[in-house]
Amino acid sequence: MKAVYINEAGGPEVMIYGDRPNPEPEPGEVLIRVRSSAINFADLGVRSRGATGGFPRILGLDMAGEVVQAGSDSLGLQPGDRVLVDNRVKCGTCENCLQSIDQYCSNQKRLGADIDGGHAEYCVVPAINVYRFSDDMSFEEAAALPIAGHTAWHCVMTRGQLQPWEDILIQAAGSGVGSTGIQIAKHIGARVITTAGSDWKLERAKGLGADEVINYNDTPNFSERIMELTNGRGVDMVFDVVGAAVWEQNLRSLKPGGRLVITGTTSGNRTDMDLSILQGRPLTLMGSGGRPRRTFGEMMKVVNAGGLRGVVGRTFPLEGAAEAHRTMASRDFFGKLVLSH
Ligand SMILES: [Zn+2]
Repeated sequence: MKAVYINEAGGPEVMIYGDRPNPEPEPGEVLIRVRSSAINFADLGVRSRGATGGFPRILGLDMAGEVVQAGSDSLGLQPGDRVLVDNRVKCGTCENCLQSIDQYCSNQKRLGADIDGGHAEYCVVPAINVYRFSDDMSFEEAAALPIAGHTAWHCVMTRGQLQPWEDILIQAAGSGVGSTGIQIAKHIGARVITTAGSDWKLERAKGLGADEVINYNDTPNFSERIMELTNGRGVDMVFDVVGAAVWEQNLRSLKPGGRLVITGTTSGNRTDMDLSILQGRPLTLMGSGGRPRRTFGEMMKVVNAGGLRGVVGRTFPLEGAAEAHRTMASRDFFGKLVLSH
């Protein structure tokens, strides 16, 4: 079969589009004809730092496709089922898995990093990682969903506990987690204020349901605009993937007692912080951390009820994976970059 794989760590030029053996499913696994796979910043990390499970390694953390072969112990999955895949393969038997905190599984592996992933015509995955999705979502939209959608769900719903009557500031509307975070917050009825660096992205954000939008290039001190939009109160919650460049403005945007969840630091990791702000306006500052299987199931309930879908920014052929990796750096797209197979 055709696949995109690496034999060494490095830049996009180490990605090989070539032939790999067809994978064979073991008991409890299903064989998927992959129809689309998405690019995450984490894919670029696997490529540049190397695969922990050794080489050659087929890349691709996110994928969607059709089941072509499912054994009797494959949880009722049938050939022809349209499915997307939770990328984290957990052991189910370690102490953390047995305590239902599988996000901390001691033996977890990532498809597309520690074991072969979705940039291929076929992929073998554990049946328990496979979720059906409805016919009205394309394979490309489905492939764009698992990591970005699950991260946003975990941060907004599980960590942040967003409520329908609350105001949330979602940074970087055009990112995978930003574009899915907007949909999740709107689905539960919260009021969404979001940011982006260009007006065309803000228009797309409105199309996803954002109530208010701020261009952070035109309005670098965006907390002042947040205060205007909230009658001087501040937002209940901030969901951030940007990090250092917006940290101080994020904290200034929060109401007393507000909470912040951060899942990325695309603008940098280090910043000065005035600690007195925690005393004056007791804030709760949270990291994202690992995501349990349970909340992937929660997210899929909303996906299949029509409340959340992947956002496709640009599509490439499978053999264009290296070009897609280069395009990631440009940020000149909205949502996810996906490969059509
Ligand atoms: Zn485990």
